[in-house]
Amino acid sequence: MKIIGHQKQIDMLNSAIEKNRVHSAYLFVGQSGIGKKQVALKFAQMLNCQNLQDFKKPCGECLSCKKIEKSTHPDVITITVQEEKNSIAIEQIREMIKGLQFRAVMGGYNIRIIDNAHLMRVDAANSLLKILEEPPENTVIVLITPVPKSLPSTIISRCAVIYFGILSDEEIKNEIRKYNLPSDEVEFINSTAAGSLGCAIELAKNIENISDYKNIISDFQNGKFLNKKFKERKEAVDLLNMLAARVRVEKPEKLEYVLKMKNYITRNANIGLTFEVMKNNLKQKNEFAE
Ligand SMILES: [Zn+2]
Repeated sequence: MKIIGHQKQIDMLNSAIEKNRVHSAYLFVGQSGIGKKQVALKFAQMLNCQNLQDFKKPCGECLSCKKIEKSTHPDVITITVQEEKNSIAIEQIREMIKGLQFRAVMGGYNIRIIDNAHLMRVDAANSLLKILEEPPENTVIVLITPVPKSLPSTIISRCAVIYFGILSDEEIKNEIRKYNLPSDEVEFINSTAAGSLGCAIELAKNIENISDYKNIISDFQNGKFLNKKFKERKEAVDLLNMLAARVRVEKPEKLEYVLKMKNYITRNANIGLTFEVMKNNLKQKNEFAE
């Protein structure tokens, strides 16, 4: 499992294991697409690695490490929004809790990763709270979110919170150069991705879409893009991420506004409505108009 950056966070988790001070619940906070889930899986490997000789865990070679890498480990399960749904349902959390009543099949820790934890419905979050209050032995639950404010404070207070920073320009560019792109495209992708490797790789893989993205950004700057129809929430969030990256460089005073809109959409606000509000707001204040 290859992870770019975040060495400080990985060292922190490693030292918790070495000192026998592993918490039963963690909250990983940081922008989308920077590799928080990868770190959670590596943490799971570190916790459940079966290689007794190897000083530096995870070994990446034992059965447990390999199963986690292939997402087939019976004791390491990721919970997230199911396809065609827009929230994590209480049934998913109930099922998770039921599974945690049994010992780990392979003898290590029972690990559950709740990705996009802010998308838990209130009843699901309440149900989760109960198990956070009385966690079974050898259980580690990792919650992942870019917007911790959307989680109930009762949940946050039960978790060890670990913050993840964005990746550096060099970390991003080194990865993107592997796609053999011309250097101005590498620069464009880097500035657009704003520290999100996930976003950068997405752009590099779909190089033919780059001109579309460039058009979207210039349309936005000309106040045109707001009529665009979004098929998926992710598409709208991606666009606002790119926009935020541009605005951060070109008009930092507008950044807060764009991030606020992005948060609304991440938190499941109606996309059309949010963009309508944004459009009216932009018209009144003539925001972003060149
Ligand atoms: Zn191992």
